[in-house]
Amino acid sequence: MKRIAVFCGSSKGFNDDYSRQAAEVGAYFARNQIGLVYGGGKIGLMGIIANTMLDNEGEVIGVIPDLLRHEEVAHTKITRMIVTKKMSKRKVKISKLVDGYIALPGGFGTLDEIFEALTLGQLGIERKAIGILNTNNFFNLALRQLDHMVQEGFLKQENRDMIMVSDSIETLIEKMAAYEAPKLSKVVKTVVRK
Ligand code: AMP
Repeated sequence: MKRIAVFCGSSKGFNDDYSRQAAEVGAYFARNQIGLVYGGGKIGLMGIIANTMLDNEGEVIGVIPDLLRHEEVAHTKITRMIVTKKMSKRKVKISKLVDGYIALPGGFGTLDEIFEALTLGQLGIERKAIGILNTNNFFNLALRQLDHMVQEGFLKQENRDMIMVSDSIETLIEKMAAYEAPKLSKVVKTVVRK
């Protein structure tokens, strides 16, 4: 995996473990020459990963919508900043640059981004690995909700199984590297080709 999109909080959370593990991710990426593609901010967990990567001479690409660039939150020292006109364009741009996606703890923005990646995976529009770094079991409740959706008939087990989860970045990357996307059903194939 050459480049991975990381979606994560524009906040740091209350527990220092979140910042610690975000820094671990940055150091791991830099050590293994995995480029970071992210939201382009300098705040919260986003800023911690980007700064750790830069301290270790890693490649950091930010993709930020024009709207957010003008706030005091855009990182000015990263390898490359791509500015998009709209939030929706940003996601398309990110997806073109990466081999996979990882979510770290975050809020609405993080969930929105990782669920969009999952929706594209479910439709077969994208076939890239999607991982969740489950620091302090942060995502357990969200994952339980997904299991509930399977039980209630709103989500297919094979699509639920697209999500790889670990509380260790090494293990998560190993799982993602071995990932094979589910086979597409005929209906989905037809829709995707149109
Ligand atoms: P949240 O999880 O709500 O804190 O939102 C974080 C996610 O949304 C990140 O992965 C970013 O891509 C995006 N995002 C939210 N706020 C900002 C911001 N101020 N600057 C850049 N990206 C942001």
